[in-house]
Amino acid sequence: MTTTASVRVSLQPRRSRTQAEPTANSGSLVDRFGRVHRDLRISITDRCNLRCVYCMPEEGVAFAPRSQILSYEELGRVARIAHGIGVTRVRITGGEPLVRRGLESFVATLAEIGFDDLSMTTNGIGLARRAQDLANAGLHRVNISCDSLRPDRFPKIRRSGELPPVLAAMDAAEKAGLRPIKVNVVVLAGINDDEILDFAAFARDTGRVVRFIEYMPLDGAGNWDRSSVVPAAEILETIGKRWALEPVVPSDSDPSAPATRYRFTDGMGEIGVIPTVTEPFCGTCDRLRITADGAIRNCLFASQETPLRELLRSGGSDDDVARSLRRAVYAKLPGHGINDPGFLRPARSMSMIGG
Ligand code: SAM
Ligand code: SF4
Repeated sequence: MTTTASVRVSLQPRRSRTQAEPTANSGSLVDRFGRVHRDLRISITDRCNLRCVYCMPEEGVAFAPRSQILSYEELGRVARIAHGIGVTRVRITGGEPLVRRGLESFVATLAEIGFDDLSMTTNGIGLARRAQDLANAGLHRVNISCDSLRPDRFPKIRRSGELPPVLAAMDAAEKAGLRPIKVNVVVLAGINDDEILDFAAFARDTGRVVRFIEYMPLDGAGNWDRSSVVPAAEILETIGKRWALEPVVPSDSDPSAPATRYRFTDGMGEIGVIPTVTEPFCGTCDRLRITADGAIRNCLFASQETPLRELLRSGGSDDDVARSLRRAVYAKLPGHGINDPGFLRPARSMSMIGG
């Protein structure tokens, strides 16, 4: 294998001395370290039809009251304003985006704005029969989460749902042209790490890009610990012993993308690893998020948010919204700090933030 143990150089951004505090009327979404933000994740709901062990507790989940959830009109407005100040890629997420009614027309709203990339992350339940409508509405592609290829294990990890409909969703998405299909796999030590080679074989057989994600301290139950994390370097080593891999060179790859990409040297497809815990890639991060209840988050792990809902509902102008987006980005810290001794988990877990 041609990979090294180091997945990616951990880039801490350099502080720019010239980066002035942003105003409402000027410039793109740039932070104090010169990172220009072009990628917006929009969570449209904090609800979900599954309860994956690494994401939501089995019971007792407190959802935001519906009155606090931003309407599609409000979300569309934020997206349009963000597009006007440099956002070129949008991803719809949640919770589970397919559980909110009217998704297809929201996709059409985003498509009309004209983003270069319009994607959605979904657990795939129910996608098979909606993939064509979503593609017709203007969705470009989907990431489908699937943590096991074993029908008996799949519902244990996701605490509900079954594998066949998710595989059918991948087929339907492909048929509808929602490509490339990316398959998100959260690797959990002792639970599904014995399927790493099966997933690599799946990537080779199907041409789908399997992305192995390190388990992050964002589970709703608060059970995360370091011993449950399978480091990306180990995942690559396991695969590399079976099939030779080579990094996708930077010119073919988006340096701000969270996944480090590798292709099989025999031309049989591609995989990715997302080494958030063991090899943070904050130095190239260009992502910001809007939660379903209308807060701007500049990092998955941020302890602070910038509220937007009241501004939207109290007659705030487009310039006011742009200013909030710029200020939120400007306040971004250089890194997520997971590996710092004083790291505190954010109050919200993954399904409430929008992964
Ligand atoms: N419900 C959709 C789904 O499962 O794809 C979209 C929302 S989900 C929060 C987005 C992504 O976050 C999924 O790929 C999921 O596997 C991932 N995820 C959730 N909790 C995680 C955790 N604690 N660590 C790493 N990834 C996580
Ligand atoms: Fe739901 Fe997605 Fe979280 Fe699983 S990962 S519980 S499908 S939001």
